[in-house]
Amino acid sequence: MVSVILASDLHGKSLPQDIDYSKLRGAYFVGLGDYLPDSLLDDIRYNVVSKEKLNKIRKTIRSKEEAQMKKNKAVNELRKIDKEAFSNLTEKNIGDIIESYEALKEQTDELKKKGIHVRVIHGNRDFPEYLKKVFGEQYKKGEMEKIGEKRAFYYPNACKFGYEPVRPGEVSIEERKKMIKQCYKRIPDIFFSHTPPAGTPISTYYGKEVGDEVLGEFLRKINTKRGQKKIQICSGHVHQAREENILMEIHILSVYPFCLTKL
Ligand SMILES: [Zn+2]
Repeated sequence: MVSVILASDLHGKSLPQDIDYSKLRGAYFVGLGDYLPDSLLDDIRYNVVSKEKLNKIRKTIRSKEEAQMKKNKAVNELRKIDKEAFSNLTEKNIGDIIESYEALKEQTDELKKKGIHVRVIHGNRDFPEYLKKVFGEQYKKGEMEKIGEKRAFYYPNACKFGYEPVRPGEVSIEERKKMIKQCYKRIPDIFFSHTPPAGTPISTYYGKEVGDEVLGEFLRKINTKRGQKKIQICSGHVHQAREENILMEIHILSVYPFCLTKL
């Protein structure tokens, strides 16, 4: 058994300090994405939209009374803003992003000093290019690795269900399909993913499907093909889904913001 420290959707928060990491020598720390603070992402949006306008759009999206059509329009409006803002970063934005990743790197370097292996994947609110720049080889994308006796697959599948990617962290259906292709030949025991698989009890948000359709399809296919193969998924993204689910032969561990488990 190998201990695994999982963290997801930290949004600028620090790693918990109440854990005796020195007892976890040989463990793996796996960051499942979405590390940047919300305030930083908003700063980027303010390059193209006013604070008032952004608040108004958000209020519509979160409103319980608003008609669905109006809410969908607001989601599209926000994505249009994001597309423009996130592809036109200022020097200051880039500096802030890198600084934020470096703060996290400093914390994980402390874990490394204690003999803990560090791995990170990106989420939809991340900038893979800068995450990779700061974390180097510790940043993983579409790679298989043995952890103890288990075969783990790093699958940064950040996406918004049914939408084309607009943010740098979002991965298109085509790219996800390409990444997961190798898993049909060598089925992993564990998936470290940002978004949970679609069609599962933890992949809905206020009744709407938000999961990864490519991972969902993969699990359905191999489940009928292999029957008894036990698969474990460790994912974040859906904050309210802080629970474990056993679904057919799939064990889904939803992480927010931190969890200690054994594989
Ligand atoms: Zn996310």
